[in-house]
Amino acid sequence: MERKNAWEKYDNAEMEQVFQLADRYKSYISDCKTERECVKETVRLAEAAGYRDLKAVIEAGETLKAGDKVYATNMGKNIVLFCVGQEPIEKGMNILGAHIDSPRIDIKQNPLYEDSSLALLDTHYYGGIKKYQWVAQPLAIHGVVALKDGSVINVVIGEDDSDPVVGISDLLIHLAADQLDKKGSKVVEGEDLNVLIGSMPLKDGEGDKVKANILALLKEKYGMEEEDFLSAELEVVPAGKARDYGIDRSMVIGYGHDDRCCAYTSLEAMLDVENPRKTSVCILVDKEEIGSVGATGMHSRFFENMVAELMECTGSYSELKLRRAFTNSKMLSSDVSAAYDPNYASVNEKKNTAYFGSGFVFNKYTGARGKSGSNDANAEYMAEIRRIMDKHEVTFQTAELGKVDQGGGGTIAYIMANYNMEVIDAGIAVQNMHAPYEVVSKADLYEAMRGYAAFLIEG
Ligand code: MN
Ligand code: MN
Repeated sequence: MERKNAWEKYDNAEMEQVFQLADRYKSYISDCKTERECVKETVRLAEAAGYRDLKAVIEAGETLKAGDKVYATNMGKNIVLFCVGQEPIEKGMNILGAHIDSPRIDIKQNPLYEDSSLALLDTHYYGGIKKYQWVAQPLAIHGVVALKDGSVINVVIGEDDSDPVVGISDLLIHLAADQLDKKGSKVVEGEDLNVLIGSMPLKDGEGDKVKANILALLKEKYGMEEEDFLSAELEVVPAGKARDYGIDRSMVIGYGHDDRCCAYTSLEAMLDVENPRKTSVCILVDKEEIGSVGATGMHSRFFENMVAELMECTGSYSELKLRRAFTNSKMLSSDVSAAYDPNYASVNEKKNTAYFGSGFVFNKYTGARGKSGSNDANAEYMAEIRRIMDKHEVTFQTAELGKVDQGGGGTIAYIMANYNMEVIDAGIAVQNMHAPYEVVSKADLYEAMRGYAAFLIEG
């Protein structure tokens, strides 16, 4: 089957659009490195596009009608946007879903210690990472410290050019003979991912003076005590901004493409929707990288509850109608796909692999060991998707995540399919997936955004 390269079809004007979208995206992922930061920025962009907080609508007892735009957030880590359709919600919604958590290194609840006049933070990594990739590079700390008085302190250290950064050391090559004989999963071990944050003793202090100095700085800057780490969520992530990649600037390198590249392009498509036939939905969830668990992950009832609230606001809620709304819905469950990499060609089967520049990726199924854990979309739904993409001249490709029995992965698709709705995995091809710096193609970002927009109109 012929595989088209999207770059070849763009005229100058469209080329400009491709690059402008990539610029907006770079700024989103440079500013938003945690799920909380993504939610905050998404609220800002949504409100600028005319979206209102569903909570305020409910409290005011307002009625919503076709064309109205609302959003709801969940514990600051998960958000859903709705643009009310002309058809009743029970006829089904067109849903875009993506996740906004990314692999990273979380700081433990009792993290701070001093060893040999160095102050370090103990960590527990989040999601699937190759631990050896996270050492010897500048890292930033993002997150919150919740205090007993109910206030929440926002922390970002390492992003401003004048900020210090932190990091995890690696062993010098000169003394690494034993280390280099270890297998990859053991070269750097989880319990050794300790973040170095200081080396200067507090003058006239006693005991662990370097640790005491760090605590004094934390007290001065954030008003926090050592005990307050107990109620903190601090995430260690690569420091610095996303950048153009390749001498031709055709790609973007940055932290957290998985899955913010799908989240951001879905969001842009969503914010462009005006007065749709079916209710348009964009849900951005947390915790996908650790199994979609918790109140802010896709397994949570949050989404279901918010659709119920939305139906109530349009005067159409009943338990049966809510169930029908889900059953009649269609979804693009969006997550990244593995981009073909000539350096590691052997893990892919070339006919069924995603390529940079070949556009929006559809995975009929994901999973591992005989499709286990996969959603496996229906052929009829795939046919409908092909019709929509072709009608809107979206360049798309189909793929599997690697060769049969090479490995695999899961997404949120199967969770939504439990509602009995049509779901297919869709998304963008990524190189270096789950590494501190991942790479995507700008043409693929653009085609995905157009694909999401086409789905919301036609689905
Ligand atoms: Mn993902
Ligand atoms: Mn992932």
